[in-house]
Amino acid sequence: MTNLMEGEPRRFCRKCLLREMPGEDYFTSLKKYIEGLDRRDRVSSEVYEQRLSLCRECKNLLSGMCRKCGCFVELRAVMRKNDCPDIHPRWEREPEEDVW
Ligand code: SF4
Repeated sequence: MTNLMEGEPRRFCRKCLLREMPGEDYFTSLKKYIEGLDRRDRVSSEVYEQRLSLCRECKNLLSGMCRKCGCFVELRAVMRKNDCPDIHPRWEREPEEDVW
């Protein structure tokens, strides 16, 4: 039986990113997936952390997921082509890297 079935309160951190939550297996596989993405498709680690810090302050963050788009923010924020889906975006997409 799960903790919920035993009547224990459900614990989750509303303002946490996946990396901060227990049950790190899922985050580990997400991290591996991100590391496998083409470098040209990803933002720099500086921009990534900046985006995530904005997500952490956002009312739409719920247990690692954005309530506006349903994405895990750690995945959405890493892609250059993505932007914040809110009506007043907190972070913008980055232009494609010139490959020539
Ligand atoms: S609305 Fe934007 S800032 Fe807020 S959690 Fe979603 S992606 Fe992050």
